Amino acid sequence: MKRRELVKALGIGAVAVGGLAACTEDKAPKTADCPKPDATPAPAAPEKPIEWRMVTTWPKNFPGLGTGANNLAKLIGEMTGGRIQVKVYGAKELVGALEIFDAVSRGTAEMGHGAAYYWKGKSVAAQFFAAVPFGLSAQEMNSWLYHGGGMELWEEVYAPFGLVPGAAGSTGVQMGGWFNKEINTIGDLEGLKMRIPGLGGEVLKRAGGTPVLLPGGEIFPSLQSGAIDATEWVGPYNDLAFGLHKAAKYYYYPGWHEPGTTLECFVNKKALEALPKDLQVLVRNAIRIANQDMLADFTAKNNRALEDLVNNHGVELRKFPDEVLQKLKALSDDVVAEEAKKDPMAQKVYDSFVQFRDQAMKWHAVSEQAYLNARSLS
Ligand code: CA
Repeated sequence: MKRRELVKALGIGAVAVGGLAACTEDKAPKTADCPKPDATPAPAAPEKPIEWRMVTTWPKNFPGLGTGANNLAKLIGEMTGGRIQVKVYGAKELVGALEIFDAVSRGTAEMGHGAAYYWKGKSVAAQFFAAVPFGLSAQEMNSWLYHGGGMELWEEVYAPFGLVPGAAGSTGVQMGGWFNKEINTIGDLEGLKMRIPGLGGEVLKRAGGTPVLLPGGEIFPSLQSGAIDATEWVGPYNDLAFGLHKAAKYYYYPGWHEPGTTLECFVNKKALEALPKDLQVLVRNAIRIANQDMLADFTAKNNRALEDLVNNHGVELRKFPDEVLQKLKALSDDVVAEEAKKDPMAQKVYDSFVQFRDQAMKWHAVSEQAYLNARSLS
């Protein structure tokens, strides 16, 4: 240790240094300035906290997603004993919702909280880390990411942008959406104007419908005025908060198009690697804890909200008929396979994803699925 660092570490002044240096020399005279061997060094001056910014695609404090980002920031502060303090910015506070990827990439902020399907314009492969129609459930997604090679692929996809990705939550299986007419055959989707983004929207288009892109705030008025015929959003917790039950009669399930939407927290690679090793580990693990916690939060709140919608708001729950789901699955398989062909990285991710899904389907047929079916027998 250099003398200057030692001085700083011990929090002692220049006068003492002379004495200390003298004490370390073999021929140094024994003077009263020499500390006794068991002397306790003065405590180091407190570290200045590292201040990070987290930009998000969510309106500030948005239930489940925005609050999930807040919880992660708080957790990082607590786990690091205040050595890292993260300030969360809602969409448009520092940069626009869809600008967060570039903002963190260039270092305007150190962290970003969003969903990977927003970045398909940057990399087609990104969509596989958020939601794929008839893809992986939340549990399967975590298995693929942490123990099935998914995380390494995600890191490869984000590396050219100087970003380190992490799964930071999941909504679980979403709902199929709100409709004002019954869906009995695939033909009932023809001509239907529905708010449904991403790959799910492309599937609807192939079924003869018209997918419409609308931000959250415009969904309710559009459904109420008849500008759209149907909409999907998230699940009972968020849908109830938007009042969607006041504008549509039937609430269809399951959300085949978003079977376990994963949220993300990406970190600027240089900022992460500039941290001491222990803080890097803490940040990575805080994200991992937040990932688990958001799914638990959504599950608990969806349970209660569904009960409220059915018991207190007269919502009619409907399951998509099997025949409709079979056709939507066939269309989805085509759409997703075609998407993967758009670039070699997307194909590489697709191959891993589909292989994992097929394995998971076999295992879950005799475990989760078999159990949930057994439990619901009356
Ligand atoms: Ca959705």
